Amino acid sequence: MATDVFYGSPYQRTLSAEETLPAKLDTILEKLSLRDRVKDETVAIKMHLGFNIGYSVIHPVFVRKVVQAVKEGGGNPFVTDSPGSCFTAAERGYTTETLGCPIVPNQGVNEQYVYPKEKPYKNIKEWRVGGHLRDATFLVDLAHAKGHPSCAYGGIFKNIALGGMAAPTRGQMHDVMHHDQYWFPEKCPDAETRQKIIDACPFGCIVQDKEKDDGLHIHFEPCNQCKRCLEVAPDGALKIDPVNFHSFQQAMAYAVESVLETFDKEKQVFINIGTQITPVCDCFGFTGPAILPDIGIFGGDDPCAVDVACLDMMKGKELILANVPESMEAQHDAGDHPLQQLHGPYKDPYLVCKMAEDLGLGSCEYNLVNVEETDESGKSLADQQALSAT
Ligand code: SF4
Repeated sequence: MATDVFYGSPYQRTLSAEETLPAKLDTILEKLSLRDRVKDETVAIKMHLGFNIGYSVIHPVFVRKVVQAVKEGGGNPFVTDSPGSCFTAAERGYTTETLGCPIVPNQGVNEQYVYPKEKPYKNIKEWRVGGHLRDATFLVDLAHAKGHPSCAYGGIFKNIALGGMAAPTRGQMHDVMHHDQYWFPEKCPDAETRQKIIDACPFGCIVQDKEKDDGLHIHFEPCNQCKRCLEVAPDGALKIDPVNFHSFQQAMAYAVESVLETFDKEKQVFINIGTQITPVCDCFGFTGPAILPDIGIFGGDDPCAVDVACLDMMKGKELILANVPESMEAQHDAGDHPLQQLHGPYKDPYLVCKMAEDLGLGSCEYNLVNVEETDESGKSLADQQALSAT
């Protein structure tokens, strides 16, 4: 069933504060009736607070808007993320004073405050869900929409899938890409050929396995599936297979299921902030130029719908090639999402949403509701921008 996704575009008709994204976020919070829903609730505002000198994390002005709305509605908000990001949050402008509420390490100060949930998937035996997310009675998933090296896109799902788990589970989720065999040493017995395969990758993805003399290991994060390595590998020695890439997305869907299962459906709100869209995740600890134009803010009650709406808006944009780092290679397949052009065709950014839909977490169908004023002809600024771009 299609749900409403409320949308604020980054465009302005005039130089007035009412037409800016923070003002549109206010309207989106109104449309979501956030104030009416949070009375006496303990509201976890799950964010990715970033690391080090990254400045493309969500600006405190936006966070404060959400915190204020929760407080005005009689709720008790706290912002939460993994301990490493929380302890250094002030370096990126996040403090109790700037946000208006406490910043609490989701998994406790040393990642020991967790609730384990058994649900075996490949190398993952249990999901260690952060204790403070479990303790909350209402969830606001406040995500920065950007690229991600493991799955092309990080937004609503990535924010609570990785950030909702304790470090051991996060590590296993990244390792899951190695679970299905991709290197078959019996088909490549000599070291010289192995070295040729290593040298064939322009991104340094392939390295000697530390534990096995005849083994190769692929770093899947920088791999864009160009398949140059297959051109020099003996038949059957190496696989670049969707299964390795897709398993990360399935793990994210299961992780999100583990987080959301303690929140009633009406006690979940999802917001994507699509500004400063960087090629990789905020966990990299630095920020480069944006590789897509700002696309605006998306808010709704359905995680699948909000992420799909955001991805669809990105899909209508061109990569800003001048801002793509030289160490990456954009592949121009017109049918692919821009983030797939950057991270490779097997990293389908929509996949986690479809997997989550299969788990009953939401629906990928949505109605985009623009919160802007419309002109006499009924067109919003975003409509006009879209028309002028065609
Ligand atoms: S497919 Fe391309 S990027 Fe991936 S490991 Fe092979 S050569 Fe490297």
